[in-house]
Parts: sequence; structure tokens; C-alpha cells
Amino acid sequence: MKSCPCGHAKPLSLCCGPFLDGTAQPDTAEQLMRSRYVAYALRRVDYLLATHAPKTRPRRADIAQWAAETTFTGLQILGAEAGGPADQRGTVTFVAQYRNGGQAAAMMEHSRFERVGGAWLYVDGDHTA
Ligand SMILES: [Zn+2]
Repeated sequence: MKSCPCGHAKPLSLCCGPFLDGTAQPDTAEQLMRSRYVAYALRRVDYLLATHAPKTRPRRADIAQWAAETTFTGLQILGAEAGGPADQRGTVTFVAQYRNGGQAAAMMEHSRFERVGGAWLYVDGDHTA
């Protein structure tokens, strides 16, 4: 069976799929981050909007355009701080590889997450490369 696009060996249906389908909620910021990467890869714009904190949420058209133009080819988690089941905030540092306009590129981001009403949301991030 194909492994999940987030890089875990287990299949999508046993990894990030239930989060994307709304049948489970991520327990950790890293799980949310991985599932958002998968949502970008699969162009699940609704999920990207729903998991983005309202105060920093981009316009739907901007997310949809970025996702449509970009083919994500790999995710590497470099580190995570807090963001566990008992935390309210957390950060995850990752590198995402992608192709955009025929060019291979990689983006490193130090992302901030917070829990709102029990659910982890992406707030914003610093791009370091
Ligand atoms: Zn996954």
C-alpha cells in the first residue's frame, strides 16, 4: 500500500486521512502540520482554511492558487517544541520540497500552532530558507 504523503510509512487512511476527512482530530501540533502538508499535496483547500487560525487566515483564492500551482514532493520534520496533547501552543520546524513552475524548490519553515476550542490551528511561520 502507498505510504502517506506526509512521509510516514503507514497509508493515508491510517495516518493523515482521518484528519482531512474530519473523523479524527490531531492530538499534536506535529500531526496537524503533517496533515496540512498532505492537504496541500492533495489540494484540499477546505481543510487548509479550516485549520488556519482566523486571525491570520489568507484568502481562499490565494491558498487555492498556491496549491494548484505547486506539486509537493516531500516533507521532513526537523523538530517540534511543545504542541503535545496537554499543550496550548507549539512549534514545528520542517522542510517541504516542491515543484512550482517547473522549478524544484524547498521551503524551511518554523511554524507556530495554537489550540483553539480543543483543536490545533496553524497560526503563522517564519521562513528560514
Ligand atoms: Zn500522514
